[in-house]
Formats: sequence, C-alpha cells, structure tokens
Amino acid sequence: MTSSENSCSVCGEVLAPDTEAVCMECGRPYHLNQRSDRPGRDCGEVWIDENHLALQFACNSCLHPEPTALLDDVLDAAEAALVVGLTEAALVAAAESGDVRHRRTGSGVYLFVRADLSTLQRGQ
Ligand SMILES: [Zn+2]
Ligand SMILES: [Zn+2]
Repeated sequence: MTSSENSCSVCGEVLAPDTEAVCMECGRPYHLNQRSDRPGRDCGEVWIDENHLALQFACNSCLHPEPTALLDDVLDAAEAALVVGLTEAALVAAAESGDVRHRRTGSGVYLFVRADLSTLQRGQ
C-alpha cells in the first residue's frame, strides 16, 4: 500500500495505470478500460469532441448526477410565502382552506411543493 495508489472516485476501487482516466469535469480519477483486448470496468466514458477534435473524459458521477432537485422543491411556509408573494400567515390560511396542497409535519411545520404554488400565484 502506497500513497501513490489511486482509487476510483465512482466505485472506490483501486485503479491500475491502464484502467485509469481523469474526469475533465471534477478532475478525479475513474475506471476506464483502455484496452479493447481485455475485459475491464468502465466507471465513466471517453468520446471525441467534434468541435475541438480532442478526447473528452467524464466519470459517471458527472455524467449521471444524483437527482437533488427533489429536496430543493420542498419548501417550508416562509420560503413558499416568498415564492408566491404572500405573508406566511396568508399562505398558511390558504393551505388550511385547501387552496394549495401542503403537508403539516408532526411539529406543526407546513411543507409545500414548489410546483403546487403556481396555483396560488395565478390567483393573485
Ligand atoms: Zn471505478
Ligand atoms: Zn467527474
């Protein structure tokens, strides 16, 4: 074990020189089988950029990012009020009267989905 030993940023396993590539997005190493005559693992891709006629390298983490948008689309009452331009109290009142889909957590926090707020915005 030496510190020069690289591990793949995608799967975490050790890289050998002929299976290693460096992602041009995040700059981290990943598995890329550069020998077509041997079986190997690919944790990313390589392709030719037609504009620059240069090889482009990208790891699977950058090519297929985990969906993070879901959490961004859940808003609490204060955030949602800003989006629709209402006071927080008015927004909660609208939620209580069924004008907008919402969820009230066990601790009394109102949660909204961003897409649902458009109905309130249109009504203004
Ligand atoms: Zn890998
Ligand atoms: Zn990457």
